[in-house]
Amino acid sequence: MSKNNQTLLAIPLGGLGEFGMNMMVFRYGDDIIVVDAGMMFPESELLGVDLVIPDITYLKQNRHLVRAIVLTHGHEDHIGALPYILRDLNVPIYGTRFTLALVKKRLEEAGLLDSATLREVLPGRRIELGPFEIEFISVTHSTIDCVALAIRTPLGVIIHTGDFKIDQTPVDNVPFDRGSAGAVQRFDERGATGIHAIGANDCAADRGVGTIGAAESGAVVLCVVDPPDPTGDRHRGAGGKKDRVCRAKHD
Ligand SMILES: [Zn+2]
Repeated sequence: MSKNNQTLLAIPLGGLGEFGMNMMVFRYGDDIIVVDAGMMFPESELLGVDLVIPDITYLKQNRHLVRAIVLTHGHEDHIGALPYILRDLNVPIYGTRFTLALVKKRLEEAGLLDSATLREVLPGRRIELGPFEIEFISVTHSTIDCVALAIRTPLGVIIHTGDFKIDQTPVDNVPFDRGSAGAVQRFDERGATGIHAIGANDCAADRGVGTIGAAESGAVVLCVVDPPDPTGDRHRGAGGKKDRVCRAKHD
């Protein structure tokens, strides 16, 4: 869409038509924000490949226009590319407390934590990034501290839901609909004032059945974290492994 010779672009660098590697770019005039920076676990045809990350050539070519990376939640397919792209794109990273805690570990392992700029946001609050005003809307998912984004631009509001499922029994006791601060109410209010575009998670939406709540289903997040090495070498977890993953468990 465009008005007054300014154009609003939504450029998916990953995550559409595929499972993983989520990265969406929004550009208005000479300002760019990036939503999520995920990786993808390779399919069998990529034998020998450890992980797949988005091609950020466009962002490197427009490096001086990129204001920030905004994170919706801490799953690997939304944050896992950060250690690999931050060397070329060291811009401020916005995320909720739990999401940034996961990011810190990743960046620490990559030796990038000291040079990174991490800015914590609270669900329900708003920030301004140039012509973009971003409201963080709490949503439920298979991990905690997840947000959808209501991105106000001079040409209208874009809703970016991130990953979500409507869960009335989430493990952090913050249900999808919790009154005036809940996602249902926030989406409803945004809808009443007009939304230009919405990008929504449709993973498993075609199954035609609901899911049980996280608290009812037991394990909701698969978090594999190496136990501390008894010698104190944090890079030598038990078994010599140093990778940790945090993947969604959606069923
Ligand atoms: Zn997720």
